[in-house]
Amino acid sequence: TSTFDVERIRAEFPILKLRIDDKPLVYLDNAASSQMPQPVIDRLVRYQTSQHANINRGVHYLSETATAEYEESRRKLQRFINAREDREVIFTSGTTDSINLVMHGYGRKFIGSGDEIILTTLEHHSNIVPWQMLAEEKGATIRVVPINDAGELLVDEYESLFTDRTKFVGVLHVSNALGTINPVKQMIAFAHARGVPVLVDGAQAAPHMNVDVQDLDCDFYAFSGHKMCGPTGIGILYGKAELLERMQPFKGGGDMILSVTFERTTYNSIPHKFEAGTPPIAPAVGLGAAVDYLSGIGMDAIAAYELQLLNYATEQMRDLPDVRIIGTAAAKTAVLSFEVKGVHPHDIGTLLNHEGVAVRTGHHCVQPVMLRLKVPATTRASFAFYNTMSEVDAFIAGIRTVQKIFT
Ligand code: PMP
Repeated sequence: TSTFDVERIRAEFPILKLRIDDKPLVYLDNAASSQMPQPVIDRLVRYQTSQHANINRGVHYLSETATAEYEESRRKLQRFINAREDREVIFTSGTTDSINLVMHGYGRKFIGSGDEIILTTLEHHSNIVPWQMLAEEKGATIRVVPINDAGELLVDEYESLFTDRTKFVGVLHVSNALGTINPVKQMIAFAHARGVPVLVDGAQAAPHMNVDVQDLDCDFYAFSGHKMCGPTGIGILYGKAELLERMQPFKGGGDMILSVTFERTTYNSIPHKFEAGTPPIAPAVGLGAAVDYLSGIGMDAIAAYELQLLNYATEQMRDLPDVRIIGTAAAKTAVLSFEVKGVHPHDIGTLLNHEGVAVRTGHHCVQPVMLRLKVPATTRASFAFYNTMSEVDAFIAGIRTVQKIFT
């Protein structure tokens, strides 16, 4: 919307003032990691300078303070995704860790020989490889939802993959490579009608749209702090309490137990059952500040502004000769994957860097997508709410420069 004050927002991100090769930084690699605003940096400094100690069981002031801040951050995350209870929010080290937790905690207990797991062609490797490891261990089978040339899931095909052996569905909310927004709510309802739980990989959705896990009715929802203005090394697994309670722990160690003898250990209640050892306390506090920051702007306002960026960039790119956009779904976040005829993505990325423009090149951890769309690699520009229309112009000008150099 026209009221979105992007310049005021940009002023809060110190890193955006950098110059690269004496050009202003144009940071378009947000799907890999986003940048951190001053309030989140300040929050980390405050925690580290006046609140830090190890949490739980401490009787001294700092331990009690750190524990309270850590648990307050859990409640912030609970509100951010509208979870019913704070014990349904588990701190992990990131999306990959969250998915591995579900594979070990749920998959190894409830999925057996001959059972079937449904995944989609669009999945990030982190929502493929753990399930392959499980399938190999248990003798289970993975079935894959195909996509069309636009990069959209074929929902009819998804529905036809269900059999009476289907035990689990894993689907990403938003594609990191193409930006496709998947109809996960509808897919979850279909799975639930057949008694099948669903894990949603929300790594690329949580930073860009309002996520309501109760409305989606997902069983698990995984995302990473570093893609949503938070620190690295922190992520979230949301899980429905009744499922988390039935699951076995992923990691064993301190804090996840009630009592330990060499004969027998009893486990702590959720969420602590899944938070063995000293957790990433400072990053958790930082992520709490990050979701406060995002909520202060408003996820709906962020989504609306980013859609304007996407539409503008898409129009500009369509005017470029010999450039092809990969991923043209009707519902997309602000991600543009593309090919430039006759130029290798690695060269595009390197030359854009000389213009100050940061993009990602390669297979984006989605080799099955590349195989299906018959592209060895793409260049990907991924936008955030602090990017501007004039940065889109700089990016497009950069591609013209690349084309000039190569002709
Ligand atoms: N899923 C998706 C869709 C992603 O984009 C990413 C990060 N590229 C991941 C999972 C993995 O996240 P992390 O590396 O933070 O564990």
